[in-house]
Amino acid sequence: MSDEGQKCIRCGDPEESAILEHCPTCGKHFCADCVYRATGRRFCSGECARAFFYGDSDDYDSDVDPAD
Ligand SMILES: [Zn+2]
Ligand SMILES: [Zn+2]
Repeated sequence: MSDEGQKCIRCGDPEESAILEHCPTCGKHFCADCVYRATGRRFCSGECARAFFYGDSDDYDSDVDPAD
């Protein structure tokens, strides 16, 4: 297994022919044509934008103790 040869997960453009960025949520690569912009950040998809802002997990496990 190797990590070389990144390509856009949306359209499949390889990094040789497109400038790829990686999604802050899923870490996958996407090109400028497929970018999803939300509040100044850039994601691979609207789903990832939502996951980034609202959290990824369904079970809301609030383990945080209030500071006393
Ligand atoms: Zn693309
Ligand atoms: Zn993503």
